[in-house]
Amino acid sequence: MHPQVEKFIEEEHTCPHCSQRMSCCESPPIHVGDGLGWGSEILFICLNDECPLFLNGWAQIENQYGHHASYRYMELPGSKERNVMMVGNVDAFKAAVINPEVLRSQNLRYQKEKEAVQALDTCVADKNLEPVMVLLLDEAADRANRTRALEFMVKLNDLQCIDPLRNHAFRDIAFENECNLAINSILKANFKKECPSCFEIVKAQAVKCMHCGEILK
Ligand SMILES: [Zn+2]
Ligand SMILES: [Zn+2]
Repeated sequence: MHPQVEKFIEEEHTCPHCSQRMSCCESPPIHVGDGLGWGSEILFICLNDECPLFLNGWAQIENQYGHHASYRYMELPGSKERNVMMVGNVDAFKAAVINPEVLRSQNLRYQKEKEAVQALDTCVADKNLEPVMVLLLDEAADRANRTRALEFMVKLNDLQCIDPLRNHAFRDIAFENECNLAINSILKANFKKECPSCFEIVKAQAVKCMHCGEILK
């Protein structure tokens, strides 16, 4: 969802029919060209099931159009203009209610991803592993951005990247494999290997782990 939505979600809208606070909902998908779009990603809708507009709407629509539906009161963000929305059942829009907390954390994550992507361009010159790690460890980040971050990780050739990746639970197995290949190439480029017993990083030519004493092949 667009970060601009965040400023609208704080708005308070009150239903003039029942005086209840209206819910902030995601707009239904818009079909381009049919003129039904509201021009907004979010809508404020009165979802109070005791709202007189909603309760009386069933009979009104039945009499007028002969089908089973009712009205929900609706306002657009930034507007007090009165609108109604036709709904076919009591649960319509209830699954589309936006939780402000969830939205705020989604936007925060999105901002962090955007900043990290921008910082990639200078991360090698700055020897800055941080934006690379932000993207690699963010399962919600765009896959193309994460793939790009991985290329920069290899260029940075910094062994500090290994532990956070080894401790990360990847949801994307294919991407995890790409990360493992990149880690291997970084170890090789630094003449290092991981001890198979304690997972500390040791010299490639070591025959005994200096950390745990394991005999290495
Ligand atoms: Zn109402
Ligand atoms: Zn060891």
